[in-house]
Amino acid sequence: MKIKMTDEQTELDLKRCYLPIEITDTCPTCGAEVTRHLSSDYLSYPCINTSTKISMYHHIELQDRDDEHSWEVVVILRVTAEAETVKTAEPPAAEAITVDIPANLAQDVASALESQANRYRMDKGHAEDGIAILNRDADRLDALAEIIMGLVARHGDT
Ligand SMILES: [Zn+2]
Repeated sequence: MKIKMTDEQTELDLKRCYLPIEITDTCPTCGAEVTRHLSSDYLSYPCINTSTKISMYHHIELQDRDDEHSWEVVVILRVTAEAETVKTAEPPAAEAITVDIPANLAQDVASALESQANRYRMDKGHAEDGIAILNRDADRLDALAEIIMGLVARHGDT
């Protein structure tokens, strides 16, 4: 994907244009810091890529009367776009069980698992340590645990 942003002046045909922009300025009359939140205080038909006058104001409650200070700031509004990298779907969260296997059975277990390669995954790196770490669907893990316990029991008899 390629995105090119131009400097073309463009009026946004929006009577109520809310933007994720906050403008803060010092009131020239009283020195107060005033922020205009364009996300709630909309602009009408703003132009982008050109000087735009934006009015600022604040209401002041005095003891005997109310007052309002207003002034204008000049800003240039721009719209930006960037490519978003689509994340590849994460593999479904796998539940894991750890089964202790006597070291002398590790090879048999690994072979048994290999025949079910598509259904189960065993971290073979741990097989020699006598540990099978299995990541698959929980219901299949139960079945797999049975396979392993069966192997363990069979070799236990010999
Ligand atoms: Zn003021």
